[in-house]
Amino acid sequence: MKVLVTGGSGFIASHCLKALLVSNHTVVTTVRSAEKGERILRVYPESTKGQLSYVVVPDIAQEGAFDQAVISDPPFDAVIHTASPLHFRFKYPKELLDPAIHGTKGILRAIKDKAPSVKRVVITSSFAAIICPDEHPDVYSESQWNPVTYEEGIEDRGKTYRASKTLAERAAWSFMEDEKPGFSLATICPPCVFGPPIHPPESRETLNTSNAYFAMLMHGGWKEKLPPTGIWLWVDVRDVALAHVRAMEVPDAGEKRFFITAGHFDMKEVADIAKKMFPQYADKLPIELISDKPNPLYGFDNNSSKEILQLEYLSLEKSVVDTIDFLQSHPV
Ligand code: NDP
Repeated sequence: MKVLVTGGSGFIASHCLKALLVSNHTVVTTVRSAEKGERILRVYPESTKGQLSYVVVPDIAQEGAFDQAVISDPPFDAVIHTASPLHFRFKYPKELLDPAIHGTKGILRAIKDKAPSVKRVVITSSFAAIICPDEHPDVYSESQWNPVTYEEGIEDRGKTYRASKTLAERAAWSFMEDEKPGFSLATICPPCVFGPPIHPPESRETLNTSNAYFAMLMHGGWKEKLPPTGIWLWVDVRDVALAHVRAMEVPDAGEKRFFITAGHFDMKEVADIAKKMFPQYADKLPIELISDKPNPLYGFDNNSSKEILQLEYLSLEKSVVDTIDFLQSHPV
């Protein structure tokens, strides 16, 4: 298939690029600048054979941002939309809300109007769009929606990221309902994503949010106290990427939302693995490691990801070991 992937510089997108190329798909990725595009091409040998190229889309929040990017010759068969801000450095909540919501609506509009060859669109949503923080259900699955509103996302910085993901995914499903385009949609909802990056980080500041935790551990930032776990569900980035590719390829995945999680975890388990596998970091961790996992804790139902997408999840140990290995060989 010929696939457009948005946000190719991102942590998850980089693994989507790799998984797509390994499966022999031809990929065009959007990036914010030609400099970022050239850097990406250098990482994947497939780019020299024309299997990977890029197109510049500087800001997905702008009206018509994707109007040119969705046009290609030969035309695209599928689109994977991952680009969306994931950080907490914003000055104004709209810095998160606008790219997430307008970017999602914008790409769907552009595909419908200008790329009729596209038959499947996969959007990276999040567990942020599922979690009900004020009243956790006994078991989380694709059926729940975070009740957060746009106004709460504006007024409460703690809710802005979750509002951006929830409202973006809701906008996508509303678009499908209202516009009845010629493609089907699948959304991917992962919780905390761990695992080694593909693109070598330029600095600790530019490390993606989840890997920054590991860099902190290695630099002694966990010495006094483990960081709070926050949400006690995780998944490895390589499984998230596979989920996107399968959701694009598998006919039955259309019109479905997928909750992608390997299971429960807490920072104590991460620290235990780090201590066992990398004894050199033992003195960068508290002497006594204390779990912050609540008891009882909500359950999770990831059955459709196993049945429809055939995912077999990587273990936390593998994810932590591979991440620390990567950061050791690319110190920041
Ligand atoms: P990254 O920060 O690594 O990637 C985000 C990507 O979005 C980058 O390519 C970034 O470009 C691009 N982007 C952000 N804002 C804009 C904008 N205004 N215009 C153009 N491009 C933009 O994050 P992840 O890979 O971790 O996240 C990717 C997706 O996965 C997001 O939708 C996120 O919400 C979702 N997700 C991530 C989880 C995690 O734990 N990592 C968990 C659940 C969901 P640039 O690099 O140039 O800034």
